[in-house]
Amino acid sequence: MAKTNVPELFGSLVFDERVMRSRLSDDVYASLKKTIDENVRLDEKVADAVAEEMKSWAIENGATHYTHWFQPLTGVTAEKHDSFISPSPDGGVLMEFSGKELIKGEPDASSFPSGGLRATFEARGYTAWDPTSFAFIKDHTLCIPTAFCSYSGEALDKKTPLLRSMQAINRQAKRVLKLFGNDDVKYVRTSVGPEQEYFLVDREVWNKRPDLKYTGRTLFGAMPPKGQEMDDHYFGVIKPRVSEFMEDLNNELWKLGILAKTEHNEVAPAQHELAPIYSTTNVATDSNQLTMEIMKKVAARHGMECLLHEKPFAGVNGSGKHNNWSIGTDTGVNLLSPGKTPYENAQFLLFLCAVIQAVDDYQDLLRLSVATAGNDHRLGANEAPPAIISIFLGDELTGVLNAIKNDTPYAGAEKVVMKLGVHSLPSFSRDTTDRNRTSPFAFTGNKFEFRSLGSSNSIACCNIMLNTAVAESLRQYADELEKSENFEDDLHKLIKRVITDHQRILFDGNGYGDEWVKEATEVRGLSNLKTTADAMPHLLDEKNKEMLLAHKVFTEAELKSRCEIMLENYVKTVNIEGLTMVDMVRKNYLPAIERYLYRLAETTKLMREVSSNVKCNYEVSTMERLSEITDSVLVSVVKLEEVLAELKDKEDIFESSAYVRDELLPAMEDLRKFVDEAEMLTSQKDWPFPSYGQLLFSVN
Ligand code: ADP
Ligand code: MG
Repeated sequence: MAKTNVPELFGSLVFDERVMRSRLSDDVYASLKKTIDENVRLDEKVADAVAEEMKSWAIENGATHYTHWFQPLTGVTAEKHDSFISPSPDGGVLMEFSGKELIKGEPDASSFPSGGLRATFEARGYTAWDPTSFAFIKDHTLCIPTAFCSYSGEALDKKTPLLRSMQAINRQAKRVLKLFGNDDVKYVRTSVGPEQEYFLVDREVWNKRPDLKYTGRTLFGAMPPKGQEMDDHYFGVIKPRVSEFMEDLNNELWKLGILAKTEHNEVAPAQHELAPIYSTTNVATDSNQLTMEIMKKVAARHGMECLLHEKPFAGVNGSGKHNNWSIGTDTGVNLLSPGKTPYENAQFLLFLCAVIQAVDDYQDLLRLSVATAGNDHRLGANEAPPAIISIFLGDELTGVLNAIKNDTPYAGAEKVVMKLGVHSLPSFSRDTTDRNRTSPFAFTGNKFEFRSLGSSNSIACCNIMLNTAVAESLRQYADELEKSENFEDDLHKLIKRVITDHQRILFDGNGYGDEWVKEATEVRGLSNLKTTADAMPHLLDEKNKEMLLAHKVFTEAELKSRCEIMLENYVKTVNIEGLTMVDMVRKNYLPAIERYLYRLAETTKLMREVSSNVKCNYEVSTMERLSEITDSVLVSVVKLEEVLAELKDKEDIFESSAYVRDELLPAMEDLRKFVDEAEMLTSQKDWPFPSYGQLLFSVN
């Protein structure tokens, strides 16, 4: 492969600031920049000028079509392509693209889930340009990142509430910053660096597994003799085929301006991770959606399938996503980074408190923001954080907070009783050695890392909740401190109070142990929402609704529709899995076991004909056990069919999701257990589908 010139390649398919600056007139560039940075409305003339240049640039770079690219509630991105062509009077075509087309689109929205929103309001939806996320070219198409709304203004996508949540935290953080005398800050934004895990399997092997193809995960499969117990895959040497894939993937991502930075093997065989350099939350969200899409595409090019499911293989670590999150100002200050002066430290501590309080007050929102049928398999299963949300701060910061809480000397360098605004905090090491991998929400030096996300989750969901919950803490602090006559004293009291009141959410111990579940739920009163069916209904809890409505991140109708759609997704996903299981068992597993039983019986009969001395112990005992298992498989599959039939009749979504949790999933588990046992007793030649070993070690 020719040597890649990365700086030249990087962003070559993105209409980014470099392109804008060089192609747009100074006036147009200046007003667009104001729109991007300060959310100022774009006027029509400017939009026309931008559209014209965007079109020429796109055509020069091989585009023939354009699309409004958006993120409906299905979780995958959607696009509807229109070509630039428009007939000209002389019988030819002109390539046209107006400001109107750039700013607004009207996709046929009727087939996207709306949870009743469009039915109640207005039948059509429209897409609106998000100028803060750059347009890019993909598959000869100019993709314009957009938000997707109904005509009555209800959000039908994940981006709109995300942008609203960013405005909410911007608004409240600026109020707080003003109190510290930071009048020069024009805006505050959150940034995210999402680490993405995935599996790669050979496409030919994958193609033979209907469960992987239809549901993204294996619904059956006995454990191979070698799994991940040797720990030899983590950070191990990357196989040549995988490294070619990674190189190709990096190039594709770089062209799209995505800052793919680190890549390594993960814990499980065939599992890998990609981390980009962090960027503004809405841009990071778009980039992560694109990254997932391009991973799949590039894998196919290399004869592989990229699995983004949270739990493709039972008994093997699943895949997650880590949402590294921080708040920063346009003046370049990371508000989660301890400052150099005492005053900056106090500000840092207040923002830290805002996060602590937010995570405690809205544990349930954070939990449900990562709830999907797939992710339910990981959380609390000793491979990913528990379903209980808590915060890890590390020894140093815990020491500082305890000192403030108890008015005791901080055991740092000066050993003085800390008075905020007077004494400096010690500088925290960013050493990663004491990082607690079992914590769902960890402070890592200058950012928080939310680790409960599933690999296929859109990061929009958890950031909407995180941004808004932190905005709510900040609002309360601003309300209180704006009235204060003695800022420093009141600030100290406030911080002390928050630390004391929210102590229960801080936990540095082992999050995987049973003792923690007991302590968290029984002593601390933290919530432990184990499944999507348990978590999602809390979206409509009064306290949550009130907060999300107050910051104008959701309307009540939007919340109801979202809750319904997420639960519908859960039910549909598991339902398809159940149906796939029945299909595989009836059409493949049972007939395969029967074939093998027949061979065993034939062999026994023949052997006994030849000699009366043979015992046929192997044949007979295997036959007996397999026949028993077959009977159990039959009972379980009939039961599963009954459960699936009953699910069909349920109309209330809360009822059906509880039924999925209580009846359908256990019935599936029962059936699987017997089939997996049969796999261990049946000859590989007769087994109808590739085994776990063949799947996990398929890429060399
Ligand atoms: P680890 O695997 O040890 O958690 P990585 O280096 O793989 O660490 O990933 C860390 C992620 O955090 C990267 O995406 C990085 O860009 C991101 N990150 C670093 N600093 C910040 C910050 N201030 N705000 C948000 N994300 C950050
Ligand atoms: Mg990490």
